Parts: sequence; structure tokens; C-alpha cells
Amino acid sequence: MNSPAAELRVDGVRLLSRLDELAARSAPGPGVTRLAYSAEDEAARALVGSWLREAGLQVRIDTAGNVLGTLPGSAGLPRPLLTGSHLDTVVMGGTLDGAYGVVAAIEVAESLRGRLRHDLVVAAWSNEEGARSTPGMVGSRAAAGTLEPAWLDSPDDDGVPLRARLGADVLTARMGPVEAYLELHVEQGPVLDTAGTVVGAVEGITGQLVGAIDVRSTANHAGTTPMALRQDALAAAAEIVLAIERLALDGAVRVATCGHIRVAPNVRNTIPGRVLLSVDLRDMSDARSEAAWSALVAVVAAVDDRRGTRSQLKVVSRVAAVDCDPCLVALVERAAAARGLGALRLPSGAGHDAQVLSMLGPVGMVFVPSVAGVSHSPGERTESAHLIAGAQVLLDVVAAVDDQPRC
Ligand SMILES: [Zn+2]
Repeated sequence: MNSPAAELRVDGVRLLSRLDELAARSAPGPGVTRLAYSAEDEAARALVGSWLREAGLQVRIDTAGNVLGTLPGSAGLPRPLLTGSHLDTVVMGGTLDGAYGVVAAIEVAESLRGRLRHDLVVAAWSNEEGARSTPGMVGSRAAAGTLEPAWLDSPDDDGVPLRARLGADVLTARMGPVEAYLELHVEQGPVLDTAGTVVGAVEGITGQLVGAIDVRSTANHAGTTPMALRQDALAAAAEIVLAIERLALDGAVRVATCGHIRVAPNVRNTIPGRVLLSVDLRDMSDARSEAAWSALVAVVAAVDDRRGTRSQLKVVSRVAAVDCDPCLVALVERAAAARGLGALRLPSGAGHDAQVLSMLGPVGMVFVPSVAGVSHSPGERTESAHLIAGAQVLLDVVAAVDDQPRC
């Protein structure tokens, strides 16, 4: 890597204070709650838009709600460099998941203004988390051209379809090919923190299959209905939850989780008549995730047969596992070494906009340690020095790719 790196520096103080400012754009309660399309999300996106303008970028919001800032390059090259992350959070999430990659990308643009050959596009992708049980990565999928039209009309937990939140033009948000997409993110797992290593050079991003199971029976009086004559939807669901866990315990997939459950009518003295369950399967092999889902379909059919419940299963979304570009992985390692930082190659167990955006060009990701591996929690934390170091590595990698896009 040649050496503009030596004089290129992110403004660490501004990076940290902007993270605090974004954290204040939250619904009340512990941690940060900034659900996609909420008033808090709107406020955060407006703030990021103002920072992008301040940094001299041309800002637009596309039809999928992505905030995009462009810094024109000097060489009139057709494919831009793209970097960013998302601003939405889960309920009671932390201050860093997503916001960090966006704020750092703005620092990159500030530092590289007037010195890039390629256009640089800084993106804040909308609805990465899949708020209200919509598919996740809605904004980046729209940009990558992989948003399935059928999803637009499917109602979310609040009964509102995506089409009503975004408008009918969302499918026009598709972007052209990019030179590279780079995303900086907190690891959200314990590997770097345990190893005492500051920089993660991400080798690949896990695939994810998200499903929903609707278990139905007949709600009835908890006192008068004999055990032999009831079909308890929650008891059936409990068996299904354990079967989901069993998929991973038996090695069919890397991890399997039921993290969301709704019971109706959810009344102490009524036998539950309906339960909605979420399913989240993740593996670096998409074929294994599909096979595990098929196995789960068979288990649910067996539970229905035995208990007289009626269940429907549907796949809500699939995200394919992707490999990061080997050239970009090596550049991340070299950039870390040039700053005197240790780097470790690792896979990402969480899904990221980067995997969707691999449709547009080579992708690379930089991780920094999550203290104790905690994320999707108010306890999510990364050392300030590590946050600044990660942004610096992102800056150096973007500068290196601009200098020498092919390795
Ligand atoms: Zn994230």
C-alpha cells in the first residue's frame, strides 16, 4: 500500500461525539430503540444527511429510504467506491450496531475529500434489522436489485405492508455496479475481544434463513376443557421451539433460534388458540440451512398430527452466505499492520448489508471488538480507542482501493 495513509487521519473526537448524538435519537427505555421507519429513525437519518452535506457530499434519499451521499472523484471512473452501514436498531439495542459504520464512513469522506479518483458514495441503508418482522436489509436489497416484489404486500406485525411504508417506487432504488463495498461494524461476538485483537478482517458472512410458523387450534376454557379434549397451541409451539434448538444442537446448522413469540389470546385462564413463532437459521452453507428447514417442516407436521393443531410455515427471507473479496481481506490486514494493529481473519456470524451488496461488486468488512461479545443489547460496547482505530483502518482501505483497485 502506498502512503497517503501516513497523513490521513479520522477525527476520533468527532466520531465519538456523533455516535453519542445518534444514540440520543432513540425511543424511551434502556439502550437505543430506533426501529426502521419510526420518528427516531427519521431523525437519525436527517442528522446523518446534515453531516454528509457538511462534509461536502451531494445527498439524496432514494425510493427505499437509503440516505446516499456522493463525493465526486477526479478521474470520471464509472464505478464508485461504496461504504456505509445502517441506522436502524432492534428494540433495546446498543449505540454501535450500524451507526458506527455510517459515522465512520462520513469520517472517511471528510478525510478523502478532493483526493479520490473514484466517486465515493456513503450510504446509510434503511431497515437492515427487519423491524416488525419484515425481511431485513430492505434498503440494501433494493439497491442490489434483490428486493422481491411479493414482500412489498406482505403485512408486518403492525399489519402494514412495506409498500405502504416506502411507496410503489421502491424497486427503482437499484444501483449500478461498484468498484468495492466496504463496511465497518462491531463484531457482535466474542472472538476479537477474547483474542485481544483490535481488527477483524472478515472472510465471509453467514447465510440466514428466516421463517415464521403460525400454530392454530381452538382457544377454550382452561377450567372446563379436559386434557384429552384440548388442542393447546402454546404447548405445541413449545415442542416446536425445542425442535428449532435441536437443529443446531444436532449439527444440522451452525445456530438456530426462536427469538419472537406471540400468544393469543394470552390470557391466564384460556387455553392458547394461536401462537406465532419466528425461526432464524444461520450457516455458511445455504444447502444445510435449507435441509434444516425441511427437517423442521416435518417435525411441525408430526406435532400437528399428534396434538390436533394446524400449523402453517413460511420462509420470510433467505440471505445467501457470501465470501468477502480475498483482495479486500488482505488489504484490511495490511492497513491494520501499517497502523501497528493486530488483525485476525474471521467469519461474520451476523448478517450484514455487505452480503446483499455483493451483487454489485466485491465486498470487504472490518470488525472491531465487542466487549464481552455483547450486541443487540443496551450493554453493547467497544473501547473508544478501538472505535477510532477501526475507522482509521476503513479510511486507509478505501484510500488503498482508490489507488489500486485490483490486487
Ligand atoms: Zn448491524
